[in-house]
Amino acid sequence: MNRLTPEAIAEGLESGRYRYMRKQCKQGHEWAGTGKSLSRTSDKGCLFCSIESARAQYKNTDRNTEEYREIRRIRNQRYRDRLKAEGGDRLKEHRRKHIERNLQWRIESAESYRETLRRYRASEKGKLLKKKNENKRRAAKAGNHSVPYSRKDLRSRLSEFDSKCVYCAKTVTTENTHSWDHFIPLSKGGCDTLGNLVLACRFCNNSKKDRDPEAWYFAQPFATKRKWSALLKQLGKTEANQLPLI
Ligand SMILES: [Zn+2]
Ligand SMILES: [Zn+2]
Repeated sequence: MNRLTPEAIAEGLESGRYRYMRKQCKQGHEWAGTGKSLSRTSDKGCLFCSIESARAQYKNTDRNTEEYREIRRIRNQRYRDRLKAEGGDRLKEHRRKHIERNLQWRIESAESYRETLRRYRASEKGKLLKKKNENKRRAAKAGNHSVPYSRKDLRSRLSEFDSKCVYCAKTVTTENTHSWDHFIPLSKGGCDTLGNLVLACRFCNNSKKDRDPEAWYFAQPFATKRKWSALLKQLGKTEANQLPLI
């Protein structure tokens, strides 16, 4: 943090960026046995007092806020871009050090680590990751195909379905009523891929569970042959080439 090496200060004194104060500051920051304190030429106060107060201020600021996290994200991204541009192993080395420091932090600040983890798990990103891992496990267990999809993929898929449950056509919102349904259930050989995910309201999804989609659909009061055909068509499953579905 403190880049003020004796050499840097000697250089600063020579170039006129730093100067000796008339006397030592009240905190007693004496510089190199001169009986005086150092100051920046541009201000009057003691250099080390101002560093200390800046550090104290930094320490007392709550940086556990969305605003600060955003600042850190941008700053880190810029730094990584710079390392990447420099080429060689700079970025690799940076990542290795980051992981090392992070592991150390997890051990030393177990409380903050738990808090960070809790916040991540409660976030949209964390919830989706959990769901995705669950799906992957379920698909792997059933021996099914699984292709990863991102939040962006899901957002564009959401608009494909016009934010409506594909079964009952109720409008769903991302906040609380929407869910992603594996059209052909994972337990019945369905794939964990974007193409097998359809937008459903919680009610339909919970009711359908891992039942045969066709049998379940036609047992519902809102079922019509026309809507079912339209859905199959949207999913690229025509009655001629894809039925029976399971
Ligand atoms: Zn001082
Ligand atoms: Zn529904």
